[in-house]
This record gives sequence, C-alpha cells and structure tokens, in this order.
Amino acid sequence: MERATATRQTRQRKLVLETLRSTKSHPTADWLFEKVRQQLPSISLGTVYRNLNLLRDAGVIRELRVHGRTARWDADTSPHGHFICTGCGEVRDVMGLDPYDWQGLKDLVGCQVEFQRCEFYGLCPKCLRRRERQS
Ligand SMILES: [Zn+2]
Ligand SMILES: [Zn+2]
Repeated sequence: MERATATRQTRQRKLVLETLRSTKSHPTADWLFEKVRQQLPSISLGTVYRNLNLLRDAGVIRELRVHGRTARWDADTSPHGHFICTGCGEVRDVMGLDPYDWQGLKDLVGCQVEFQRCEFYGLCPKCLRRRERQS
C-alpha cells in the first residue's frame, strides 16, 4: 500500500473514533458522517461504515443493533445495557445492574461469556412528560 494512502486511512479511522468518543448519544453512521465531514470534507459515507466495521471487529467499539432500527454505535465497550426510548429513539446507557456479572454467569453455566446485550424499552423522561401533558 502506498504510504500516503495508509496515512490517509489512519487519519480517517482516528477521526471516526474520536468523533464517536466525543458523544454519549450512541449515534448512527449517518450522524457520524455529518460530523466527520465537517473536518474531512472528502470522506464518504462508505468510508465511515468501513471504519466503523473495522473498529468493531477489533473490539474497539460496539455496534448496537436495536430491534427494528438503524444500527447505532458505542465507543464504550465496558459491559452495560441500554435503555431505548420508543418515543424519540434516544439510547441511554444503563450501568451497574447485576446481569453484568460475567464471572458469576460463567460459574453458573460453565460457559465463557464473550459479550452480552441487554436492552430495555420504554419512554424517556422527556417523552413521559410529553405524554402526561397530553392526557
Ligand atoms: Zn424519548
Ligand atoms: Zn452504551
């Protein structure tokens, strides 16, 4: 590979990762593309996707396949669950719940857990207030 190409690819990957790490909103690839493009106008959506997939395969980031919705991306790879608002689609982190006791699970079933996903669905505080105002 040409050196200039390799440098450009490294720069693109770094920028995609930095942009994802700058937010807690679990953004879509489209959102990341819009942000990254402000700093690197020549980048394409396909390149953003390719880098997200590479970073996911390397275990640096997590892909969140929320049921029936576009994939979201998470720079936090620590074991945690997600609350997904069925009203506005907001994704919030859920930390510190017991199902994240991987060692305990291993002792219990004798299997090596490699990853887990835990999703809660419902209404976020904003959507709850909106619903209360309407009723
Ligand atoms: Zn909501
Ligand atoms: Zn998360």
